[in-house]
Amino acid sequence: MLLKNCKIYLDKKIVEGEILIDDNTGKIKKIARIINNNNENIINIKNNLVIPGAIDCHVHFRWKSKKEGFKSGSLAAINGGICFAIDMPNDNPPITCKELFYKKLEDTKNLPINLFLNFGITENNYREYIEEAKVYKIFMVKSVGELYISNYDILKDIFLEPKLYCIHAEHRDVILENLKKYSYNSWESHTLIRNNKSEYLAVKEVLKNLSDNSKIHFCHISTEESLKEIEKFKDKHNISVEVCPHHLYLTKDMAEELKGFGKVNPPLRDDKDRKALIVGINRGIVDIIASDHAPHLLEEKLKDVKNCPSGIPGIETLLPLTFNLYNKKLISIDRVISLISINPAKRFNINNNIIENNIANLTIVDIKKEGKINSDLFESKAKFSPFDGLKVKGFPIYTIVKGKLYESYGLKI
Ligand SMILES: [Zn+2]
Repeated sequence: MLLKNCKIYLDKKIVEGEILIDDNTGKIKKIARIINNNNENIINIKNNLVIPGAIDCHVHFRWKSKKEGFKSGSLAAINGGICFAIDMPNDNPPITCKELFYKKLEDTKNLPINLFLNFGITENNYREYIEEAKVYKIFMVKSVGELYISNYDILKDIFLEPKLYCIHAEHRDVILENLKKYSYNSWESHTLIRNNKSEYLAVKEVLKNLSDNSKIHFCHISTEESLKEIEKFKDKHNISVEVCPHHLYLTKDMAEELKGFGKVNPPLRDDKDRKALIVGINRGIVDIIASDHAPHLLEEKLKDVKNCPSGIPGIETLLPLTFNLYNKKLISIDRVISLISINPAKRFNINNNIIENNIANLTIVDIKKEGKINSDLFESKAKFSPFDGLKVKGFPIYTIVKGKLYESYGLKI
């Protein structure tokens, strides 16, 4: 397959060129300004942007659950321009032992996308080392079963291990305290119960327990206070920060209107937090954007505030919403590519380089394509979104994964 008329992101520059991919091995055979090979299956990229395969480092594909599963999750990834994803361990039962981890890993082997797994940390298993685990997840609030750390004193010991930990930072005690003050009687109450302080104090708890060798990735940071606190430690410690599109677009004043589609953990915040996250991206405090793709059944999301599960599908809106920030002149194109491709590759040791002899994993984006988010076009089983109807600019049009070309969302609108 020969990709003609590309604008390729190579060595931090966008250059015109062509890419020849070996259909048998899936490897990039040649990259050059012009490649003369008329026998090839030619794909005209029409001067669209070709970037190293996009990565969504935070997804819940819900292995073996009717809510999603690896098959529909992978198709959703491809539709959204995502070549690599890292799946979270809060399955039911949670992935907190080697046996389950390897069973789950077996099921990632023949998927069309590159799916990596995160191992769930408990107070009893944190010394276990799993070679194939991309990262180890710590929940500071209850997730599924025993998959959480309730005794924060143990964090010091956990962080001495030479592993990369990703952290869901919400403080259990603050949430319990707030549950005494507020009842679940409005959509806003969810944002009051899991307030800014709950994230901020959990972040502080993590930071105070770091050792010199600790490697920490903060998932879905959502408040100005947390970012400021993390910034103080970022120079001296090995820390990365992730944000999610819903916290960059939605605020808690929209909670009543969005109902279940706005119920996420951590919850929607104030506009000042939303703006602080964008400033954080521009200042390089935020390294990575991820979807926190968390599909649920529609009937569950239509329940009342207390019974509606938290989380929304996001893997198919991640790239459009991120490129739209560029088109709204809020962040540069370099930042966009760093957030979705370059930085997560570095952080999670994923090889998505556009170089000869590498397996071709490429995301092709029409950065000027305008359209509305339409969840009817999702491949995810969760066909709803708080962004439905939102007009955005910048869509993935092709995803090349493991050397195979697929059409993506942007070609369908
Ligand atoms: Zn999550």
